[in-house]
Amino acid sequence: MPEFPDIVVYLEALEQRVLHQTLQRVQIASPFLLRTAVPPITSAEGKEVIELRRLGKRICIGLEDDQWLVLHLMIAGRLHWKEAAKVAARGSRVQAKASKFGLAAFHFKSGMLSLTEAGTQRRASLHLVQSENELQRFDPGGLEVFEADPQGFGERLQSANHTLKRALTDPRLFSGIGNAYSDEVLWHAQLSPIALTQKLSAAEIKRLFNSTRETLTRWTDLLRAEAGAGFPEKVTAFRPEMAVHGKYGEACPRCGNKVQRIRYAANETNYCPTCQTAGKLLADRALSRLLRADWPRTAEELEGVKRDP
Ligand SMILES: [Zn+2]
Repeated sequence: MPEFPDIVVYLEALEQRVLHQTLQRVQIASPFLLRTAVPPITSAEGKEVIELRRLGKRICIGLEDDQWLVLHLMIAGRLHWKEAAKVAARGSRVQAKASKFGLAAFHFKSGMLSLTEAGTQRRASLHLVQSENELQRFDPGGLEVFEADPQGFGERLQSANHTLKRALTDPRLFSGIGNAYSDEVLWHAQLSPIALTQKLSAAEIKRLFNSTRETLTRWTDLLRAEAGAGFPEKVTAFRPEMAVHGKYGEACPRCGNKVQRIRYAANETNYCPTCQTAGKLLADRALSRLLRADWPRTAEELEGVKRDP
């Protein structure tokens, strides 16, 4: 699932390409994608993009007249960009058939933004809402780690007693952090994914706060450098530079011991026993149960959380 670093870099790339551009035409190929009927999607056409904003893991495109396109890529949704010259070269026949470029296409004078989703499950969503108030309903309420101080971070972390893995990835507690970067943050902080938040010492909370900021900053810089002047086309949760996420059985870059995993439902958390759990190999079955019990809803349900109006 695209998380904070991916979303930030997507937004920067979009800013360079569509800010102050007129959205000429929207094509929706999948009936599952667009979750709103009012206002009609055609009402977004002809409007200028005046702001781009991240809301948790959502990408929000602000248009004139206080309209907002709200995109949640969920797990397999990805954005793509084609320069206007290349779109024109492929001819108007292609333009007529949105399914050729995935679930949706947004046409600008400068080029075409398209959305694809790998696999067969249609989880990615698009909403068109009218007004800032309506937009705020999509904010699950997670703390922005770069706007918080260590004290505010600690208070939010300990507002309920959860495992660290759950607390970091709950969009109602923290903004923009998901399965991949929570693994990396916990490895950086040398904390166990199943440590309980209310049992952490002040020193551990401070360490986690710093590690969260450092990890997200480092990855945002890395992804920004990788995209360069191009559009970020290689968005993935599994990267060779990661320390533990997706590295089950491989060597921990800090101590060289094998990275382990705990599987629960469709998820997996990766950690280094030497660096994070005092050398203890956590028994997969019991911990799966613990982690599952700490998720009263599925991760997907949590992502869909909206505030009451
Ligand atoms: Zn290690």
